[in-house]
Amino acid sequence: MDFRFSGEEETFRTEVKEFLRAELPSGWDEQFDAESEMGMAAQGDFAKQFQKKLANRGWIALPWPKEYGGAGASVMTQMVYNEEMAYSGAPTGFNMGVAWVGPSLMICGTEVQKKRFMPRITNLEDTWCTLYSEPGAGSDLAALQTRAVRDGDEWVINGQKIWTSGAHRSNWGWLAARTDPEAPKHKGISMFLVPMDAPGITIRPLINMAGQHGFNEVFFEDVRIPADMLVGQQNMGWYQLAVALDFERSSIAGSARARRLWEQLLAFTRSDGQFVGAKPEIRHRLVEAGIEIDVAQFLSYRVGSMQQAGKIPNYEATIAKLYSTELGQRLAGSGIELLGMYGQLHPKSKHAQLKGRMERYYQLSVAETIAGGTSEVMRGVAAIRGLGLPRG
Ligand SMILES: Cc1cc2nc3c(=O)[nH]c(=O)nc-3n(C[C@H](O)[C@H](O)[C@H](O)COP(=O)(O)OP(=O)(O)OC[C@H]3O[C@@H](n4cnc5c(N)ncnc54)[C@H](O)[C@@H]3O)c2cc1C
Repeated sequence: MDFRFSGEEETFRTEVKEFLRAELPSGWDEQFDAESEMGMAAQGDFAKQFQKKLANRGWIALPWPKEYGGAGASVMTQMVYNEEMAYSGAPTGFNMGVAWVGPSLMICGTEVQKKRFMPRITNLEDTWCTLYSEPGAGSDLAALQTRAVRDGDEWVINGQKIWTSGAHRSNWGWLAARTDPEAPKHKGISMFLVPMDAPGITIRPLINMAGQHGFNEVFFEDVRIPADMLVGQQNMGWYQLAVALDFERSSIAGSARARRLWEQLLAFTRSDGQFVGAKPEIRHRLVEAGIEIDVAQFLSYRVGSMQQAGKIPNYEATIAKLYSTELGQRLAGSGIELLGMYGQLHPKSKHAQLKGRMERYYQLSVAETIAGGTSEVMRGVAAIRGLGLPRG
C-alpha cells in the first residue's frame, strides 16, 4: 500500500488549506461550534454563506460527473477534502443528498430524476433527510413496515419513521418503504423520493441527550406522491441500498477531528506547566491517543486507496467506521478526565475550559457509534466478512 498522495491531490490539498485560511475567521478555533465539528447540521448565516462558497467552487460533490453538478474528481481528492474540512472544524454540515441520494440516483435513477435532482443537491437548493429507521427497524432495517401502495398514477404512503436527522430542515426525503408485504422481508422494499411538505406528513422533534434537536419522528398518513418518485426497480430497494454506497467511505473525518481535538488537549496540557502534564496516567493516555489517531487515519487511507483502485471496500470500511467512532469516544473520555471537574462544564459556562469542547464531544460522540450502524453490528459484519466466522 502506498501512502503517498499524487501531485494533483497534494496541490488540491494546498488549495483547500488556503481556502480555509482565507474563509474561516481568524481565531476560528476559539469560536467552537460543536455541531459543525461533529459533522452534524451546520446552521447559522456564516455556515450557509460558507457552504455557498463551497458550492460556487464546485466542491459540494467533487466526484460526481460534471453534467450532474460535480467536478468529476477522484475518490482520493474527495478524501483529502473531507480530511481538511474536518480538521479545520469548517461548518460544512453532513449532506445526505451528497452522501447517498445522488450516488443512488446515479446508479438506479432515471435520466429525468438525475437531471432534476442532482444539480439541485450540488447547488444547495435542496436539503435531504433519510427515512430508513422505524421504531421496530434499526439494525434490522429490512423489518421496516412503512407501506407504499400503488393507486393509479400515485403511491400512497402510510407508516412511521424515527431518528430522522434534519427532517425539520429538509425539503426532500429519501424513503425506504415496503411495497410487497407478502415477499421475504429483503425482497419487498422500494426506494422513493418524497417532498417533505406533502400533505399527510407530520414531523415531531426528538431531543438528544446533549439537549439538541437534531432528529425527529416522521409520520405518514395517506401521503400521495407521483408514481415517478419511485427510484429504480420496484421491490429491489434493499439491493439498491447496498449498491449505492457512499462515494467516500473512509471515515477520514473522524480521525481528522480527533487529531485536532488531541492537539488542543496537548496544548492545554503543556500550558498547564508541571501539574497535569506531569501525571503519568495523563501522559500515557495522550500517547495512546496519538497512536490510535494514526491507526485510524491509516485505516481510512486504506479504504480510500481501495476505492481509488476500483475496489469496493467492505469490512475495511466497517472497521474504519468502528475504530474512528470509538476512538472519538475514548478521546472525549480522556479529555474529560484531563480537565477534571471543568471538563463537565457546558460551553456556555464562563468556567469552561477549551470552550466546553469536551463536554460536547463526550455527549455527542456516543451517537456516532450508533448512527449508520452500531458498533456491535459493525463488529458482527467484520467478524463474518473479515474473519470468515459463522453468523452469531
Ligand atoms: C445521531 C443519529 C442520527 C441518526 N439519523 C438517522 C437518519 O437520519 N435516518 C434514519 O433512518 N436513521 C437514523 N438514525 C438511526 C440509526 O440508523 C439507528 O439508531 C441504528 O441503525 C440502530 O438502530 P436502533 O436504534 O433501532 O437500535 P437497535 O437495532 O434496536 O439496537 C439496540 C441495541 O441492540 C444491539 N444489536 C442490534 N442488533 C444486533 C446484532 N445483530 N448483533 C449485536 N447487537 C445487536 C445494537 O448494537 C444496540 O446496542 C440515527 C441515529 C443516530 C444515533
